[in-house]
Amino acid sequence: MIIAIDGPAASGKGTLGKRLAAHYGLRHLDTGLLYRAVAHAVMSAGHPPQDRVRAAAAAMAIDPAGFDEAALKSQAVGEGSSIVSAFPEVRAALFNLQQEFAAVPPGAVLDGRDIGTVICPHADVKIFVTASPEARAHRRWLEFSGRGVTVDEAEVLEDIRRRDERDSGRAVAPLVAAVDAHVLDTTELDVEGSVAAAIAIVEAKRTP
Ligand code: C5P
Repeated sequence: MIIAIDGPAASGKGTLGKRLAAHYGLRHLDTGLLYRAVAHAVMSAGHPPQDRVRAAAAAMAIDPAGFDEAALKSQAVGEGSSIVSAFPEVRAALFNLQQEFAAVPPGAVLDGRDIGTVICPHADVKIFVTASPEARAHRRWLEFSGRGVTVDEAEVLEDIRRRDERDSGRAVAPLVAAVDAHVLDTTELDVEGSVAAAIAIVEAKRTP
């Protein structure tokens, strides 16, 4: 079974992806980490994420086994990742890795922006997770605070709005719900409520 989860920044798709994978005994790939790793590689070498040639080269050399998740989760890397992810060469370089991950039995849960539309258009279940920008900003702020990182919530909201605009407005693989995706709005739901709602979507799909 392949479960595709897409949605905007901080919508909770990573948490849902992890929980669904554990529930169904599937592997999980947070594809945002791939784009974050590309941005991190370029930026930590002292170059701006707008450097298209370096971003493409970094995408071709990506090794998910060596990811330092804490470093990849910073706000600056998040911002950079939405810039490198608009380059078609970067998306092309990461395409096979994602498809191959999904193809290994017994299947997988992948979360990102274009899983249901581009990477796994034949996924068994597609969920488009969304929440208001304010709810997402508050969650991301709580996450940063939990890690001891001091950030201004208004700044996080700004960043989220900017990334939404960039992810939805780009020419290649823009953030959009697949026509056959189930939309899950988590604005009013906590983690457990969101997980239960997502499982209900998968179950309804498995037992028609
Ligand atoms: O989900 P996360 O915030 O970690 O993703 C970081 C950035 O990577 C997003 O803002 C988006 O620009 C990009 N991305 C993408 N396609 C994916 C996953 C992430 O373009 N499948």
